[in-house]
Amino acid sequence: MAKVLVIGAGGVGSVAVHKMAMNSDIFTGIALASRTKSKCDAIAASVKERTGVTVDTYQIDADDVAATTALINEVKPVLVVNLALPYQDLNIMDACLAAGVNYMDTANYEPIDEAKFEYSWQWAYQDKFKAAGLMALLGSGFDPGVTSVFATWLRKHKLDTIRTLDILDCNGGDHGQHFATNFNPEINIREVTAPARHYLNGEWVETPALTIRQQFDFEEVGPKNMYLMYHEELESLAHHLPEIERIRFWMTFGDAYITHLTVLQNVGMTRIDPVIYEGKEIIPLQFLKAVLPEPASLGPTTKGKTNIGDIATGLKDGVEKTFYIYNICDHEDAYRETGNQAVSYTTGVPAMIGAAMMVQGVWTGEGVFNMEQFDPDPYMDMLNNHGLPWQVKELAGPLAF
Ligand code: NDP
Repeated sequence: MAKVLVIGAGGVGSVAVHKMAMNSDIFTGIALASRTKSKCDAIAASVKERTGVTVDTYQIDADDVAATTALINEVKPVLVVNLALPYQDLNIMDACLAAGVNYMDTANYEPIDEAKFEYSWQWAYQDKFKAAGLMALLGSGFDPGVTSVFATWLRKHKLDTIRTLDILDCNGGDHGQHFATNFNPEINIREVTAPARHYLNGEWVETPALTIRQQFDFEEVGPKNMYLMYHEELESLAHHLPEIERIRFWMTFGDAYITHLTVLQNVGMTRIDPVIYEGKEIIPLQFLKAVLPEPASLGPTTKGKTNIGDIATGLKDGVEKTFYIYNICDHEDAYRETGNQAVSYTTGVPAMIGAAMMVQGVWTGEGVFNMEQFDPDPYMDMLNNHGLPWQVKELAGPLAF
């Protein structure tokens, strides 16, 4: 019996729960809790219609540690899968410790009043999870998540050492809106407007947001502008694979997205400090989120593909080689299967796989773990069999930039 409790009924939670229900031999019981119960009920109805599996639904404010602990004690899962927002990570980890249950998420903790994400807060739980004999797996989405598994797979099968690693995240989808984000707008805009950082010879190099741009021709998408950004897996990869000299993260953005974002920033709409409006405090970015399309609503209209992968250069038997490993995911296929577009799909499927690794005892341990600490092979097999097949090819040489 492996019963899981998923917290968060957004696009990612929806995909993960659908995919868990499609694997009811692994997930013998599924409970879904979120702030708005009606969203859980809508997902449960879709799951029932598509798979016949019943999902139990609950209302929870996951920032309330006592209430979350009580819910875990009532549901009695073996694992809590946190697919709410990064702000909830530490509270849900505390509830898991109080209830004596394992934990998994897809995004690292971020304080709500500071756009700063780093692993230090969650790594600080290492001793507590270890002492409790529990496991916490951090970041089992696509990036972070699969991108780290890709790196460890290349390190295991294709290269003896990795010298440079570039993660390339391309969303070639078109949702037909002037401006919308494909996952939670508040989290997305905080991430994109933060200064870029990459890792070089043991140091972090910081550059202003969205100032370093390259063009790359993505298979099945075409040439796209991609921008150097900071992303959380850079920190865990630099920590767990210290041999790597340079790690960079690139994400594609269209010109219209950049223009809209620049205007919104210039007029102060992306601020996360409170302003007084009609005698009431509001956070401009939270207000902006309220007027932007809900990512989940973009599913029916989004066409095109995502292409996300790693390019690694290193030595094999003393000879320098470069490999490119990537997944291509079609927005319309993802929508047909789960009712969600590919950005939610490429995160929700790895969330299901990470949970499967834990509840089946394939990945085990006591303490707090990142993805690159485990054998990549069983995870890579599940990607191939559950909707995110990957390809690997050798390139003629390292990236020219
Ligand atoms: P959404 O905003 O669509 O969904 C978040 C859900 O969490 C909503 O249902 C929301 O409830 C719920 N929630 C928020 N606060 C609380 C709370 N205090 N208690 C209970 N539930 C709460 O986001 P996504 O589904 O797009 O993303 C989910 C997570 O996945 C995020 O952490 C995001 O950063 C991460 N992610 C990771 C990626 C990766 O590749 N690793 C890529 C994309 C996303 P309500 O509906 O009431 O607002």
